[in-house]
Amino acid sequence: MKLFDVYPLYDVTPVSARGIEVKDDKGQIYLDFYGGHAVISIGHGHPHYVQRLKDQLDKIGFYSNSVQNPLQSELAEKLGVLSGCKNYNLFMCNSGAEANENALKMASFHTDKSKVIAFKNSFHGRTSAAVATTDNPAINAPINQQQEVTFLPLNDFGAFEEALQKDSYCAAIIEPIQGVGGLDEPTTEFFQFVAEQCRANGMVLIADEVQSGFGRSGKFFAFQHHGIQPDVITIAKGMGNGFPVGGVLIHESFKASYGLLGTTFGGNHLACAAVLSVLEVMEQEHLVDQAAEIGLYCKEKASEIPQVKNIKGRGLMLGLEFDFEVAGLRKDLIHKQYIFTGGAKNKKLLRILPALNVTKTQIDMLFEALKKELS
Ligand code: PLP
Repeated sequence: MKLFDVYPLYDVTPVSARGIEVKDDKGQIYLDFYGGHAVISIGHGHPHYVQRLKDQLDKIGFYSNSVQNPLQSELAEKLGVLSGCKNYNLFMCNSGAEANENALKMASFHTDKSKVIAFKNSFHGRTSAAVATTDNPAINAPINQQQEVTFLPLNDFGAFEEALQKDSYCAAIIEPIQGVGGLDEPTTEFFQFVAEQCRANGMVLIADEVQSGFGRSGKFFAFQHHGIQPDVITIAKGMGNGFPVGGVLIHESFKASYGLLGTTFGGNHLACAAVLSVLEVMEQEHLVDQAAEIGLYCKEKASEIPQVKNIKGRGLMLGLEFDFEVAGLRKDLIHKQYIFTGGAKNKKLLRILPALNVTKTQIDMLFEALKKELS
């Protein structure tokens, strides 16, 4: 059997990794400033993470959600404390797309409506709120046809008001910092306006923190930069540091009932051990503050490079904008400087998403390599 060929691949085969260093099958070491789309939050192969997963697997890796699993409650408790979101309840699932599907379902159940507002250039996974982030029209096709999505321009107060006058919606879903689309953000005024309009119109406000959450923006959640409180928050990526896991934080004002949501694998013992160890390392190594501090350092270094025309994002969710398309530069960084970076729908943007415990010395190495390739 062959693989269903849907991914264009770089000619690199990683075989081992520690921190932000990745070794390929030829023994070449690369520096990972991308973390597989912001997934690697505490570094590859962190000793605490590895040990906790091994210990858990030795005891029990999986049963089902029909029996008690105290790890889920332990995790919910710790997540509530570290994120400052104690008045939410946690539903665990397996990926970002699944987290958003469940969030949209919750909104639909809660309001008895189905239409959704999303924002142009956003990406919420291969879900009913999917939006084209490439030229590939397939990505634009909603999976769940029942949930019709209206895409509005970000930061356009008038368009939002007009949409609400014309129709009624169950939810607005928003990335506090757009990931794949290219790091555009709602302004604080717009975010607060959307939150207020949702409240006034009985809509559910969903913050998609799949990419921007878990400390990456320099706060636990990126919406916390704007003084708003979403009804539902979705998480995945950095949450498991590579273990496939997602979750939905649902405000305690939403009533749960048996069978309302469900999944086979979500919140299994191994997944919980992975997330708990990520949270423990984040706490012990003060990684949220670290992301804020190193992010500022990164911005400082980037501002010294004349070819960088604009610096977008926060914390360690950054984009350097050039006045040319960066596909060639990214290839040269990989093949000549042995450095992984990310691209975006905005083809002139180089995305920087390293583990939150990346050091200043490693950031210096990135910028030295970048300068070499740009000169
Ligand atoms: N939401 C955001 C903001 C994302 O960036 C992504 C993936 O890139 C998703 C949702 C989908 O996550 P997954 O690929 O785990 O389904």
